[in-house]
Amino acid sequence: MEFLKELFHINEKIVILTGGAGILAGEMATGFIKAGARVILLDINKENLDRRLKKLSELSNDVIGFQCNVLDEAKLKSVHQAILDRYNRIDILVNAAGGNMQGATVGIGQSIFDIEMEELKKVTELNLNGTVLPILIFGRTMADQKSGSIINISSMASYRAITRVAGYSAAKAAVENFTKWMAVEMALKFGSGIRVNAIAPGFLLTEQNRTLLTNADGSLTERGRTIINMTPFKRFGEPEELIGTVLWLASDASKFVSGAIIPIDGGFSVFSGV
Ligand code: NAD
Repeated sequence: MEFLKELFHINEKIVILTGGAGILAGEMATGFIKAGARVILLDINKENLDRRLKKLSELSNDVIGFQCNVLDEAKLKSVHQAILDRYNRIDILVNAAGGNMQGATVGIGQSIFDIEMEELKKVTELNLNGTVLPILIFGRTMADQKSGSIINISSMASYRAITRVAGYSAAKAAVENFTKWMAVEMALKFGSGIRVNAIAPGFLLTEQNRTLLTNADGSLTERGRTIINMTPFKRFGEPEELIGTVLWLASDASKFVSGAIIPIDGGFSVFSGV
C-alpha cells in the first residue's frame, strides 16, 4: 500500500492549469485539490476566473489565479516569475486553454470554401500556440528541475474527420504531434524525469454543446444520435471522468509514459460502427 501511495503522490505538487476558469480545467482542478495539490489557474476571462477561484477556495486555501492570455508571452513570463517567487518550483502543467470557434466551423448549408482563413488562423493560434507558449515558459523550470509532467488536451476531432469541425481538428492534430515531439526533446535533453502527454476527450455533454447534442426535452438531436451510435458505451462522457487519467499522467504512476495520447472516449476512437 505504501508503494501505491508513493506512486500516486500528488500531495503538495504545484500544478498550473491554463484555461483554468473553463469547464474541464475546473473539474481537473477539483481533482488535483482533493489529491492535495496546490493549484494555480490561468485564464483570460477575469470574471469567470474569480468565480472559479471562489468555488475552489471552499476546498482549499491554497489555490490562486492569474488573469493571463496564453498567447501573451510577456504576461506569461511575469506570471512565471510570480509563481517561482511564491513556490520556487512547477511540477505539473495542464494546457486546457483552447476550444472550437464558430468561424472555423463549416456552417449548415456551407462548404469548406466558405471558411475565412483568418478564422482558421485564430483557432490554430489558440489551440496550438496556446499550448506551445506556456510549455516554452513554464517548461523551462521543469527542465532546470529535471522533473515535471506536462498534459496537453487534444480531442477526438484529431482522430477522425468530424464533419463541419475543420480548423479545430487540424489544430488538435498539431497539438498531438507537438506533444510527441516535445516528449522526445525533453527526455533527450533534460532526462526522463520530464514527461509530456496528452488526453483526447471524446464527446462530453457540457453547457457549450448541450443544444447541439440534445433537444430541450433531453432527447438526442440527429448529430447527438450519430455520436452515440458510434460510441460503444452508448452515452456521452462526464467532465469528471477525465480526473482519474489526468491524475495518473501527473503522478509517478505513469513514470514510464511519455508522448502518449490517451483517449477518454467510451471507445469512440476504436469503433468501426459495425
Ligand atoms: P471552456 O470554454 O469551458 O474552457 C476554456 C477556457 O479557456 C475558458 O475559461 C476560456 O476563458 C479560456 N481561454 C480561452 N482563450 C484563452 C486564452 N487566450 N488565454 C487563456 N485562457 C483562455 O472549454 P472546455 O470544454 O473546458 O475545454 C478545455 C479544453 O478541452 C480545450 O482545449 C478543448 O478544446 C478541449 N476539449 C473539450 C471537450 C469538451 O467536450 N468540452 C472535448 C475535447 C477536448
